[in-house]
Amino acid sequence: MTALIDVSGRLTKMPAEAGLPVSYNLKIGDTRLPLNELIGRPIQIEFEGMIRCIHCDRSTNKSFSQGYCYPCFRKLAACDTCIMSPEKCHYHLGTCREPEWGETHCMVDHVVYLANSSGLKVGITRGTQVPTRWIDQGAVSAIPMLQVATRQLAGLVEVVCKQHVADRTNWRAMLKGDVPELDLAGERSALLCRIQPELAELREQHGDDALREASGEALDLSYPVEVWPEKVKTHNLDKTPTVNGILQGIKGQYLILDTGVINIRKYTAYHIRLQVYPRAG
Ligand SMILES: [Zn+2]
Repeated sequence: MTALIDVSGRLTKMPAEAGLPVSYNLKIGDTRLPLNELIGRPIQIEFEGMIRCIHCDRSTNKSFSQGYCYPCFRKLAACDTCIMSPEKCHYHLGTCREPEWGETHCMVDHVVYLANSSGLKVGITRGTQVPTRWIDQGAVSAIPMLQVATRQLAGLVEVVCKQHVADRTNWRAMLKGDVPELDLAGERSALLCRIQPELAELREQHGDDALREASGEALDLSYPVEVWPEKVKTHNLDKTPTVNGILQGIKGQYLILDTGVINIRKYTAYHIRLQVYPRAG
């Protein structure tokens, strides 16, 4: 495909499908562009100066919590602090900002997993978000460790695990592509062994069924990247609204250009114009 592409609209997080490599789409307004096949082509991304809340459509000067206006940020359960710190879930106290949302997003099965994104890390996600969450973090492999009954329980287990393994991705290392392989099944057994006392305590409080060990195998993922960046320089659309470069790859929610990387998720709700030019030469 070499035709000129020129699309404008509101940007959202890139939908992706697991695979070797992961297959990405760029979503701009109602358009979904298959991105893998555009690798190698020069592109221009221009922020057109408008941000519209992904919940209420209101225009806002600044995006909060990756795509919301300030009133929504203050009001929605999805923007509450317990989303970042799930162990602080307060649904059981009757103070959830939106109890119905909480019932479908938090009071449901969650997975505590181990991933290799820039080394070993622990994370949690709703059962239905596997493997999307792993792809968004740029993991090269991931394995479920525990199935738990609620988001809060997942958070409590994560707090315990954090004493032994990282819970953050070093995104610069992740984008350089030189992530050493790990035996995740082995790491899982070792970590489960170390946290047995705390797990036993949680089971006593919440019931045996609320925390079940997962037996699934590790999922391997690779990313469509032709050239890895040597130095990771980031583009910032708030400071420099027009970004140019050759698309060299996609990993996590980042586009890798020869001129720097851009975190598409950070610009959710931004109105942009994307132009893709024919391959040079
Ligand atoms: Zn809003």
